[in-house]
Amino acid sequence: MDDRFDIGKLVRPNIRALVPYASARDEYTGSASVFLDANENPYNAPLNRYPDPKQQELKEVIAGIREQRVENLFLGNGSDEGIDLLFRVLCEPGIDNIVTIDPTYGMYGVSAVINHVEQKKVLLTPGFQLDADALINAVDQHTKMVFLCSPNNPTSNSLDREAILRIVSEVPCMVVLDEAYIDFSTQESMIGFVPERRNLVVLQTLSKAWGLAGIRLGMVFAHEILIQYLTNVKYPYNINSLTMETAIRRLGQAGEKSRWVSQILVERNVLSGQLMNLSFIEKVYPSDANFLLVKMKRPKAVYNYLMDHGVIVRDRSKAPLCEGCLRITVGTREENRQLMAVLNSYGESIVNL
Ligand SMILES: *Cc1c(COP(=O)(O)O)cnc(C)c1O
Repeated sequence: MDDRFDIGKLVRPNIRALVPYASARDEYTGSASVFLDANENPYNAPLNRYPDPKQQELKEVIAGIREQRVENLFLGNGSDEGIDLLFRVLCEPGIDNIVTIDPTYGMYGVSAVINHVEQKKVLLTPGFQLDADALINAVDQHTKMVFLCSPNNPTSNSLDREAILRIVSEVPCMVVLDEAYIDFSTQESMIGFVPERRNLVVLQTLSKAWGLAGIRLGMVFAHEILIQYLTNVKYPYNINSLTMETAIRRLGQAGEKSRWVSQILVERNVLSGQLMNLSFIEKVYPSDANFLLVKMKRPKAVYNYLMDHGVIVRDRSKAPLCEGCLRITVGTREENRQLMAVLNSYGESIVNL
């Protein structure tokens, strides 16, 4: 959509009318040294203080790394919060709908149910690519968002950029592109299109490549009007002090993150080769992420055998187009070795049957 696209028109009327909560710290800007405004305990510094509701310092760090403006960035308690807030800002319960690809990350559908919003699913092609025409045709006057995920979970591949851009150009609603695995991908992030495409929303997270799933920090990059609505609706202190402090410190150590990503990519390729040598494995799909989708005979039996031997993977065999598939996260060399040892012994056990 071009710059005639009116984001405000997609926003629920109650959210447009909302007067957001103003916290004590919101109303004060300056350099006081005695803070008696927020009923905090004066002892136990620094955790006695409420965190910065604007998250200014952390936002500047992230915006700097991703070369975006702070005005285009929202921070959430994991991507999950960003996803849920997008529903609450845009979708009228019982009336509006979303369109997603299928199969994809389950959280879009869960958030849709929680918010009483219909989810229309459009099957990927057999090669796990976008059917852009079908997606565009699934959008109707009540569709507020199209969810895309690239690299996609659980299929592990990147979606075609030209198809993504075509969908962004042609649909009259927001397009939410989840880039949780972008740092593992050979494809470049599409975050650079956010300033010129008013209806493009890009989700990223510190949970995967940055190794910080435990601190819960997700990012939403979007037009500043949408970011402002998300900000108006969030809990004032949605990002806690411990998360902010850890994130700022770890984001300053990008070299370590790059080394982890390189190592994981090396291990992924080693693991992929080893898996393909197993007799009961039919296919290891090409991956652009930190996990492998693996098609095999009797996936449930393999899943149970792994579990009985202390190795947990994800059974995706019930997902559309994923018949026979387990999803396996790439671990350390030692973890992958243990996985392979159990799979080898499973292979021997079925030969001996
Ligand atoms: C893991 C994952 C996320 C991360 O969610 P957080 O809430 O940020 O931990 C987001 N999207 C997809 C597709 C994922 O697989």
